[in-house]
Amino acid sequence: MRHNPLLLSERAKRVLNRDSVFLIHGVIALALVVDSFIYRELYGLSVVIGINIASVLFASLGALRFFNVKNINNYPNVYLIFYHIIFGLGFGFIAPDYSPYLAIWIILLYVSHFFYGSLGFYLSLSLLAVVLIGQAFRILTPNDGVIEHLEFVITQLSIIGLSGKFFAVSEAVGDKDRKLLVTSIDKAQLERQRLVSLINSMADGVIATDDKGIIKLYNAAALNILDTNENLQDKDVRGYMAVIDKSAKKLDLVSESAASNKVVTSTDVLLVYPDGEKINLFINISPIKLGFRKDAERGFIISFRDITREKSLEEERNEFISVVSHELRTPIAITEANISNAQFIVEKGKSVTEIKSALDAAHKQALFLANMINDLSTLSRAERGKLDMVVEKIDPREIAKSLIDDYKKSAEVKGLTFKVHIDEDTPDHIMSNRLYVREILQNFVTNSIKYTREGSVSVSLKPKDDGIEFSVKDTGIGISKSDQNRVFDKFFRSEDFRTRESSGTGLGLYVTKKLMKLIDADISLKSKLNEGSTFSVYIPSLKQK
Ligand code: ADP
Repeated sequence: MRHNPLLLSERAKRVLNRDSVFLIHGVIALALVVDSFIYRELYGLSVVIGINIASVLFASLGALRFFNVKNINNYPNVYLIFYHIIFGLGFGFIAPDYSPYLAIWIILLYVSHFFYGSLGFYLSLSLLAVVLIGQAFRILTPNDGVIEHLEFVITQLSIIGLSGKFFAVSEAVGDKDRKLLVTSIDKAQLERQRLVSLINSMADGVIATDDKGIIKLYNAAALNILDTNENLQDKDVRGYMAVIDKSAKKLDLVSESAASNKVVTSTDVLLVYPDGEKINLFINISPIKLGFRKDAERGFIISFRDITREKSLEEERNEFISVVSHELRTPIAITEANISNAQFIVEKGKSVTEIKSALDAAHKQALFLANMINDLSTLSRAERGKLDMVVEKIDPREIAKSLIDDYKKSAEVKGLTFKVHIDEDTPDHIMSNRLYVREILQNFVTNSIKYTREGSVSVSLKPKDDGIEFSVKDTGIGISKSDQNRVFDKFFRSEDFRTRESSGTGLGLYVTKKLMKLIDADISLKSKLNEGSTFSVYIPSLKQK
């Protein structure tokens, strides 16, 4: 790999900036035109025209460079070869005797050294030697001896060579330093590469800006979170990060951090997208200073993350705790009141029937509490997620039969017929989680028994796609259209007075929905008020982990 250590350096930009290149091209072009004008008699018309065309070309090249169309710093070899050919031919074949413009070669020596070190310098010098030898043969006559020829070549070569060397050495870096520079630039580039891949692999958005908030570096996650694929380089960060606080007040956190010169961290801001959509953002803005010098560059490192999910989970948890405590308060209060009532009756020596009825009421509430705690514990298991779920071989017929065994009796107690229909083609087994499947069906069956006054509850089982479908159908009170959308919400219980006749937590179907998600099951509900409901669940056979 060929290195061009100075291509990227600030110094290269300073020394060979576009203005100076333009100036050199201009001066040379002008010099050639003037030269050809002065010596027009000597050159003849065609040469003068040729020189002028070359000058125009040369000046155009400078102009292209000036308007940044072509960058000399990107193709130094092309430019250097081009210049050497032009000047080589010019001085070798056209320039008059002892033309002072030969001093232009000093620039070629300097620039060759600048980009390619000693090798470049000596190559350029060798070409100059060839040109001078050519000139010597053109200018001197055979009468001039070898000494004259040598003198002609050596004087000019040494004057120009030494001047070039002087500039090159005083301005450019020595070969040794150049090598050191190459190594350190390589190292710096490697470090930068490492840093860039590090920040690119981060899940958090990272943006580095200068002291005015102009973006200098950013990672892929930043683009993702800001939902843009624009090039953010050198753009004002505030144009891409419109943040507001909870009361919709616009915030300028960069200026805030700049004013206080302190790290600004917030989990309470919202990022607003151009279409008005908002997300919760965790944002950290750190003012930084690169280096220890007084005039060291300052800037900001902004890291941020989408915390909408965490925020909504937090809100959900808070709401859940408040609802649960609210739900628990009433039965506990009723239990407590009934027990103290029973105690009071005992103290007063009143009838056993009154004590019994108070204890019955307390018992009912205690049962409710037990059910609620049961539901909550299933819910917490469901929320722990798939991680500790076992995918096992389960037999759907066996589950259907165990449901009959467990619930036939309670259905019959209510005067309901409990029917089961198992399709012959039902597979012998599927892969899923027995506990969850049982829990889901159990919720449907207990609800059907609970919310059916007369008629029947039937469980049916049939194959579907790569799994099975369980349906629990009843001839109960049914669920109104508007309630059908809400029965799976937490703590939802229908306002229907017949629902309120039996106790319930409103958590059963909510838990069911969570469990279904874990085993990728799909549910459908058909119901008509006063006619009955059918809850069907499709349980796919899962792949074993
Ligand atoms: P719970 O039964 O403890 O009240 P669920 O979450 O199991 O809570 O059910 C929520 C609500 O859905 C019930 O309160 C009831 O209004 C309605 N519901 C559920 N299943 C049936 C059904 N088979 N028939 C009529 N209504 C039902």
